[in-house]
Amino acid sequence: MRILCTSCGKKSVIGKTDRLSLSHANLYCSCSDPECGHTFVTNVSFSHTLSPSAKNTSEIVTALAKALSPEQRKALQRELAF
Ligand SMILES: [Zn+2]
Repeated sequence: MRILCTSCGKKSVIGKTDRLSLSHANLYCSCSDPECGHTFVTNVSFSHTLSPSAKNTSEIVTALAKALSPEQRKALQRELAF
C-alpha cells in the first residue's frame, strides 16, 4: 500500500502502525523527500464487505435460522429437504 505525502504528494514511508482493532489502524508516515520532511498520521479503516468470509458463513446462517418463526423454520426445512 502506497501512502503519499499529504503536503507534497511524494511517496511516504510508514514508520509505525498502531493497530487499534481488526478494522482500524493508524499509520505513522514520513515523507521520503528530504526537502519536505512532513511527518503525519493517516488511518486505514474497514469499509464494507463485498463477499462474506467462508469462515463464518455457517454462523450467519445459524443466526438467521434462529431469527425465523417456527413456521418459517419448518418451511425452510421443507425447502432444503431433497
Ligand atoms: Zn512531502
